Amino acid sequence: MLLDSKVPDGPIADKWDHYRDTAKLVNPANKRKYTVLVVGTGLAGGSAAATLAELGYNVKSFCIQDSPRRAHSIAAQGGINAAKNYPNDGDSVWRLFHDTVKGGDYRSREANVYRLAQISNNIIDQCVAQGVPFAREYGGLLDNRSFGGAQVSRTFYSRGQTGQQLLLGAYQAMCRQIEAGKIEVFSRREMLDLVISESRAQGIVTRNLVNGEMERHVGDAVLLCTGGYGNVYYLSTNAKNTNVTAAWRCYKRGAFFANPCFTQIHPTCIPVSGDYQSKLTLMSESLRNDGRVWVPLNKGDRRRPEDIPEAERDYYLERRYPSFGNLVPRDVASRAAKKETDAGRGVGETQLAVYLDFGDAINRLGRDRIEERYGNLFEMYQRITAEDPYRVPMRIFPASHYTMGGLWVDYELQSTVPGLFVLGEANFSDHGANRLGASALMQGLADGYFVIPYTLGGYLAGLEPLSNTARDGEAFRIAEGDARERIQAMLDIKGSRTVMDFHRSLGRIMWDYVGMARTAEGLKTAISEIGSLRKSFWNDLVVPGENSTMNKSLEYAGRLADFLELGELMARDALERAESCGGHFREEYSSPEGEAVRRDDEFSFVAAWQYNTRPSDAILHKENLEFDNVKLTTRSYK
Ligand SMILES: Cc1cc2nc3c(=O)[nH]c(=O)nc-3n(C[C@H](O)[C@H](O)[C@H](O)COP(=O)(O)OP(=O)(O)OC[C@H]3O[C@@H](n4cnc5c(N)ncnc54)[C@H](O)[C@@H]3O)c2cc1C
Repeated sequence: MLLDSKVPDGPIADKWDHYRDTAKLVNPANKRKYTVLVVGTGLAGGSAAATLAELGYNVKSFCIQDSPRRAHSIAAQGGINAAKNYPNDGDSVWRLFHDTVKGGDYRSREANVYRLAQISNNIIDQCVAQGVPFAREYGGLLDNRSFGGAQVSRTFYSRGQTGQQLLLGAYQAMCRQIEAGKIEVFSRREMLDLVISESRAQGIVTRNLVNGEMERHVGDAVLLCTGGYGNVYYLSTNAKNTNVTAAWRCYKRGAFFANPCFTQIHPTCIPVSGDYQSKLTLMSESLRNDGRVWVPLNKGDRRRPEDIPEAERDYYLERRYPSFGNLVPRDVASRAAKKETDAGRGVGETQLAVYLDFGDAINRLGRDRIEERYGNLFEMYQRITAEDPYRVPMRIFPASHYTMGGLWVDYELQSTVPGLFVLGEANFSDHGANRLGASALMQGLADGYFVIPYTLGGYLAGLEPLSNTARDGEAFRIAEGDARERIQAMLDIKGSRTVMDFHRSLGRIMWDYVGMARTAEGLKTAISEIGSLRKSFWNDLVVPGENSTMNKSLEYAGRLADFLELGELMARDALERAESCGGHFREEYSSPEGEAVRRDDEFSFVAAWQYNTRPSDAILHKENLEFDNVKLTTRSYK
């Protein structure tokens, strides 16, 4: 199948304007005849729901949590990028575009990334107008800080709670439309299937998580804004509810899944401390503005950090990457940490950690300034580890954090299923093989506030609005039946192993073989082990309780069943991609210094997988990536 990215013609800087100038429009009086289903209420879904309702569409909004404003986006700490160039340090739309394409190791679509960089500035204006309390500097301008992979300061922030403040902005915009009767919110609902009829998305099936009831919702378009799949690794920085289910069920109904192996391991998380743990905590990348990463020079040095003199410390990022130092992109920083711990220079009890040290910054700027910048992060660290990071360096280690892969979308954010649009982390679009810090919030809000209002209109214009009676049709009946059967099947197994136990096993396989470093042999092992684990899941799972009451085990079981299929596709995708790029590091394709070696001649494409009954039979399609504006070079941060 030919994947048509629908990128408009013309110079890159004019494409989006040209698109908007020529996109079909829906007459204001007709907008109220259409219903749009927006699944997810994070920054992507929240901003899309509010904007579409403001335009006059009827919106139904769905989320797993008890309130839209508890979506995972609320956890985002560090900030959001934009090319405003307030610090006057040389930033521009072009530079943000260039950094993002380069940061993604040349595996993203140029036109989408350019549009993202253009829109970035509108996002800041929009959020300021909503009253989002961005940090300001003395002169009153919005303050900026630096994130990895950039040599300018372009990250806007609200202390360490940027996601929360942005989400409150989107949520209050939603509330205005809830009050106006244009948005109907369905919280504690889980989308379990996509309904396709007449070759286009016409609705979804959801389960009420409080009483187990199945519900059918008809929509003229479905917007999937359901976040990423980092929890496939079990331990991750993601909220526990984060999952792949909605995207996976759409995949099974015909939406292609792109680049599933492109996942991001974040370098600065609080290290794992025991088997009892179910979640990892991120220490924001913003900390690398002032914190210095180091390990003892000598292997196995068990002295306390304060007893190790300067001359016996290795600030390995500053040494290896003098231009970017501690602000190299996440994939580079994560692999560098692994290299040090593999070489026996890890610190802390498990030796699977490196130091992030604020000693210098506190001496230079004073404790107050550091507290002002990162106070809540320091407090969080102290509460979790019982160590005071103002006095002793933080211990950090990489952990699963973000997924660049997701459902394939064209320039209009439309998947391979007509009428199914995918926004935010759930799509594969803009970050290539590695996302730069502070770019996810930018992308989610760009998709929701600024892209979908135009592209959705183009799809709906001229389409006959659906009647609610479509819910009684065959397609809805089959989708609901499938969802019911699956739930019953899990309840009926009555085996002996819990969902969490299975999930932990999957996480171990994924981390060991599909994690920070991958080999062909390891990936084949992963494929075989995941297959066996999936079998034993369907034979030996125990789900206590029933369907008709709130049942977290049952919810998680459904999500894990999908992770168990996705994990195999991730391993297959990683095996097919015989090169190293961004977060996908194949040991066979590395330079003598341990840097990633891309193979542009063969792998300059988006891998888009089509479902075909079993994970092992998925069919690979390729969207070739053209680079007309950014020169393909070896990514160097030295
Ligand atoms: C700890 C942490 C810190 C981060 N900090 C930053 C940062 O500083 N800057 C940055 O740019 N990025 C950051 N990120 C990444 C960023 O937060 C996410 O990529 C982004 O918020 C995702 O937004 P989203 O709207 O796509 O999805 P989410 O915010 O994950 O929202 C998903 C929504 O979908 C709903 N949902 C999911 N499945 C279903 C289903 N089956 N049925 C119904 N509803 C469903 C959920 O209930 C939720 O409402 C951070 C990530 C983490 C984990």
